[in-house]
Amino acid sequence: MKISIDDIKNSKNQSLKIDFANEVSDLDTLGPVEAELIFSAYGAYINVKGTIVANVKLVCDRCLKDFVQKIDVDVDETYKLGRLDSAVNGHSGQEIELKDGDFVTELDGDDEIDVEDLIYQSVTLNIPNPCVCDINCIGDPEIEKYIKKEISDPRLEVFKNLKINKLEEGK
Ligand SMILES: [Zn+2]
Repeated sequence: MKISIDDIKNSKNQSLKIDFANEVSDLDTLGPVEAELIFSAYGAYINVKGTIVANVKLVCDRCLKDFVQKIDVDVDETYKLGRLDSAVNGHSGQEIELKDGDFVTELDGDDEIDVEDLIYQSVTLNIPNPCVCDINCIGDPEIEKYIKKEISDPRLEVFKNLKINKLEEGK
């Protein structure tokens, strides 16, 4: 699902409300992801405010069991139409910090915003780390043994890499 910048600008008060209830590719959820987003145009900027609710299927870091976590996100994102400073930043879609904690994503000439991508990024950024099925989860003693072994046994190097990949996916 993509929102065209023209549609936002042509809407009343240059503000367009989107109700989203759908699956999001690459996001493993129980049921659809629900989002209520308001896209507003301010000159060269597009601001998105709203909420996203997703029941994300996760794997517990301690016991490795599957569980579902409800992720609630308050969205407040700003997009800059065109390039902020093409001489310094040649890449599209990158995030630039204007002031402390004030990030803007360059659209770099794109005339639409990818809603699914916005939802995917917002939800994955809000997945807790460490990610545990229950605050009292004590883990699985069998797995604990492997984690301890991992440090000393080079044959288990593969588990270490698996863990790293998982963390990177969560970004
Ligand atoms: Zn657990």
